[in-house]
Amino acid sequence: MIYAGVDVGGMSIKCCLATEDGQILTKGSFKTKEGLTCAEMAEQTASFVKSLAEKASLPESDIAAIGMGIPGTVDGKKGVIVYSNNIRLEHAPIVKEMKKHVSCPVFVENDANVAAFGEAVFGAAKGLSDVVLVTLGTGVGTGIVVNGKMITGKGGAGAEGGHVVIRLNGEPCTCGNRGCFEAYASATALLRQTDRMALRRPDSLLARLWAEQGRVGNVPFDAAKAGDPAGVKVIRDYVNYVATGLAGMVNIFRPDVVLIGGGISNQGDYFIKKVSRRLNRIVYGAGLNPRVKVKAAALKNDAGLLGAVALAVKGENV
Ligand SMILES: [Zn+2]
Repeated sequence: MIYAGVDVGGMSIKCCLATEDGQILTKGSFKTKEGLTCAEMAEQTASFVKSLAEKASLPESDIAAIGMGIPGTVDGKKGVIVYSNNIRLEHAPIVKEMKKHVSCPVFVENDANVAAFGEAVFGAAKGLSDVVLVTLGTGVGTGIVVNGKMITGKGGAGAEGGHVVIRLNGEPCTCGNRGCFEAYASATALLRQTDRMALRRPDSLLARLWAEQGRVGNVPFDAAKAGDPAGVKVIRDYVNYVATGLAGMVNIFRPDVVLIGGGISNQGDYFIKKVSRRLNRIVYGAGLNPRVKVKAAALKNDAGLLGAVALAVKGENV
């Protein structure tokens, strides 16, 4: 049997067909128009999955289940997209619509939860039962796996670690509140922090690289690695924000491993080690409890797809 994974984004929808152990057999994506309705999304996704199967000469009847990772609040039990700011849908019965076009079971969950689940089933946390994944990108996505199961909360509205407040009356967040973890630890936040430092220290290497290379996330890292005090300060503060948000999650869940994904994780060991050092200094029982393991997520660009495949394979047992 094979499984279909679907990763729904704001501009496009990625799909793949994969084996039970997460080997991708074929994948592709299609662009979506703005204001796509739930019925259109289901119809286009189902026909794209069928066309993938056809092109790879895989019989459509071999598809045992379809898993979908969707941004926003997703009620997996009801099969409904409750609210998605990203794809502008509310109370959308996506599973019911999909079932008009396919005969196999369809499972849906929030994309960050699905990505964490995929890492636990196929990726950097394979074989581990308790995992926290934080994705540092445009926003901060968090996924939590406890005892091998995804934490989704009532109505799918839980596991939003990115919106835990780490500073009262702090920076404004995209969610409307202030001081959220996301407002300090996203890649967007790092750019803002770099921008401010470049203005404050116009003679620094950081300011020079910022002017030469534009607003890109590697600038503060490059400046810090070169020993520039302004760059060092930006990265030290940023690492502190990331570790502070993670410490809250670690204190509640004490996972086997904390995984860091998203664009920032491409900074590799340089960044991961700093976060690990800081995190292990500030978690509850530091120095007495076992060290918290911190690693880069492994599935990279396929995290969403393979998470969706894991969801399809495990079905109702997530
Ligand atoms: Zn927020």
